[in-house]
Amino acid sequence: MMKQYNEIKADYKDSILFYRMGDFYEMFYEDAKIASKELGLTLTKRNKKTDVPLAGIPYHSAASYIAKLVGKGYKVAICEQVEDPKQAKGIVKRDVIRIITPGTIIDTEYLDEKVNNYLLGILIDNKKIALAYVDITTGEFRVSEMNDENVGYKLLGEINKISPKEILTDDKGYSFLSQELENHRMKDGISLQKMSAIRNSEKYLTEYFNIQSLESFGIADKELVIKAAAMILKYVVELQKGKEVPVTKITYTSSEDIMELNLTTQKNLDIISNWRGESTNGSLLWVLDYCKSSMGSRLLKKIIKNPLLDIEKIKRRQEHIGFFINEVLLREEIREKLKDIYDIERIIGKLVLETVNGRDLVALKQSIRSSLELYKMLKGHELFKIDAENLVNVYNLIEKIIVEDPPFSIREGGIIRDGYNKELDELRDISNHGKDYILKIETEEREKTGIKGLKIKYNKVFGYFIEITKANVENVPDYYIRKQTLTNAERYIVPELKTYEEKVLNAKTRIETLEYYLFKELTNEIKKYRESLQDLGYKIGYLDVITNLSHVAIKNGYVKPEITEESTLEILGGRHPIIEKLIPVGEFVKNKVILDDKKNFVVLTGPNMSGKSTYMKQIALIIIMSHIGSYVPADYARIGLVDRIFTRIGASDDLMTGQSTFMLEMSEVANILNSATSKSFIILDEIGRGTSTFDGISIATAISEYIHDKIGAKTIFATHYHELTQLCDKLDRAENYRIEVEENDKEIKFLREIVKGGADKSYGIEVARLAGLPKEILINSKKILKTLEERKNIIEKKLGGEQMMLFGSLVQEEIKKEEPLKEEKSISKEEELIIKLLRDVDINSLTPMDAIIKLNELKKLLN
Ligand code: ADP
Ligand code: MG
Repeated sequence: MMKQYNEIKADYKDSILFYRMGDFYEMFYEDAKIASKELGLTLTKRNKKTDVPLAGIPYHSAASYIAKLVGKGYKVAICEQVEDPKQAKGIVKRDVIRIITPGTIIDTEYLDEKVNNYLLGILIDNKKIALAYVDITTGEFRVSEMNDENVGYKLLGEINKISPKEILTDDKGYSFLSQELENHRMKDGISLQKMSAIRNSEKYLTEYFNIQSLESFGIADKELVIKAAAMILKYVVELQKGKEVPVTKITYTSSEDIMELNLTTQKNLDIISNWRGESTNGSLLWVLDYCKSSMGSRLLKKIIKNPLLDIEKIKRRQEHIGFFINEVLLREEIREKLKDIYDIERIIGKLVLETVNGRDLVALKQSIRSSLELYKMLKGHELFKIDAENLVNVYNLIEKIIVEDPPFSIREGGIIRDGYNKELDELRDISNHGKDYILKIETEEREKTGIKGLKIKYNKVFGYFIEITKANVENVPDYYIRKQTLTNAERYIVPELKTYEEKVLNAKTRIETLEYYLFKELTNEIKKYRESLQDLGYKIGYLDVITNLSHVAIKNGYVKPEITEESTLEILGGRHPIIEKLIPVGEFVKNKVILDDKKNFVVLTGPNMSGKSTYMKQIALIIIMSHIGSYVPADYARIGLVDRIFTRIGASDDLMTGQSTFMLEMSEVANILNSATSKSFIILDEIGRGTSTFDGISIATAISEYIHDKIGAKTIFATHYHELTQLCDKLDRAENYRIEVEENDKEIKFLREIVKGGADKSYGIEVARLAGLPKEILINSKKILKTLEERKNIIEKKLGGEQMMLFGSLVQEEIKKEEPLKEEKSISKEEELIIKLLRDVDINSLTPMDAIIKLNELKKLLN
């Protein structure tokens, strides 16, 4: 057996091999050690002589162990006995029947139902990137391609959107991705695998899908996409060891149809998870997801991550949502019904992957029934056109064949209804009524032979037999076959009895085998309907998303935004969809924004904590919501299409990455400047903060001018440098907004209202007071501020009335000239002496003793 084990293991070196032995899966050697460590199993020895480490788990609870190991990034190969042990000559034949990796888990029980489990393939060729991803639990298979000028920004954004559990990529992609995922703290939870593209990808795909050309998926000319698709499909197919995979088509999405949201933007805007990425709490998804089905939740997540750029599509979603805004009763009835619908997509996945059980089919049946009811309620509305006829067929099949409450296992019988299969009914009859039948034969034989004392008995050697006392032997008919002679009696058998005996004894095993066969026959039949069923799954998800968005719109008081091709952004009475949920009801102060071709650059000033970031993110979120077709938190909104949203926000999360804050800030800004168009929306929150004030102001000014003059994207630039308000004097499409502050001699109060005009000071010290800094510090900092402001006035005077915003090289020089001033003032005579002393020291000729003496001298000077 160990020889067989070693042979098999040799082919699956990179996997943990689950080797089936009776009711257990055993692991040996290294695998056993890993399993015992990761799963907390006891490590034993196979036998005392060989010392082979061994760990085992009962087969019926394997799924949870597999899920755990795979969750930790291991691959698991399942090796089964592939022949009946009773019939095996020598050692039972075994084979690996399936391999499970993080991206190809099929036991949906251990997956989050609201999250897709994706395997993603990435190929990079120069600046072109192809992505292909698959969720084998639902059969979804998508491909897309992108050009990334600075390979990385877009790609990481896309990876974050997809959130795969496993990535396959070639050598080049591997070295790039392992670095980038690490840098962006995305490595945990993604298993990165090196893989080479397969030869003849196109042929592989056309053969798999049994089609003439890939034109039917719209990817015929996309070589890199084809390669990526074939790479992951082949991987998945091979892991299934010859079993079918639920993938039936490739869906191509062009990145041109989708609003680009890079990684930073997705994170900054808390679209899916909060800033830590730990949970969906506090995210836009959290605000919007009141879906009733897991298909709905999964689809909503995709929809939120992929805002549309096609105005017609957006309007169609709005119409659908609008329909249910008006049909209140219908909407609530539908949502109530949606609750009864199980995860059809994943049941179909299980069906194809052959892991479906009786309970799944009953769940499918009930879901079909509810879906048909929904169909009736909607009276054929375009939003829920399903293949009712085929679905009824599936319903009837399951109804006819499967009992109402089948067991979990499909190998132990009890799944198939009485009356469906004659042989099964007979077998059940036999197994249930074996004794009665024997009694019946006994009576019949007594009557036939006239022997009153005829008895049917049973023993292990002969099975059932007829026993007749010696006295009655003459009356025994010819067809009785004598088997044994006892002192007082003879024992016989008759063919009928033997036939029956066989039936009774084998009935139980035969029932199990037959039911399993009938179940498989049924699942194969249902498989023929999988396209109708997959389509139903999608439509249920969509109906759920739409009714959900109407529900949320009403619940949260949203309005329908007007989407337009014009270049306009007008939001009146807007609110931040997330923050308004996090603070007491009604406390959010509404605000507005109006931007168009004439005014498209806002310099937003206001003290710290006054609401600048909130305001800007709010606008971005409302834009995103509008593009997914949702209603928005505002009194009125008119939104021109936005192709990309870029955000550059504060320093808080920069700690996560290895790069220095300022470096990171600038490289993000560079990406924005390279990628933004006049149709983009940009949020710049406090750029230039990572360096000195003058540096910062200079860079911020130059960046603003560039965006304003060269790009023309709608931009909101928040800053607490009130000096930047002067920008607007020079840039004709720029405007100052500020956050209203009420100030009296004791304190300041944030009114959170956005008004036109710039702030004239920074209020940093006031905020520090609010935060409870000691009084001394506040007084002292006020003094310092005063001196600094006096100095600034001097500089401004020196510039001869030139405006502050003209921080060109001239200003830089002036500032440099000013710098020694600082030094002179801060260095004392003693300090100067110390510096001189240190300069004069020749370390090479210094003895340890001298060094100590010098050190002493220095210390004295200081004291
Ligand atoms: P800033 O970016 O100016 O430092 P934030 O935007 O981070 O300030 O806002 C600080 C806090 O103020 C937010 O967390 C929120 O609780 C509150 N806030 C901001 N805007 C509003 C508003 N319009 N209405 C009510 N509270 C607000
Ligand atoms: Mg802020």
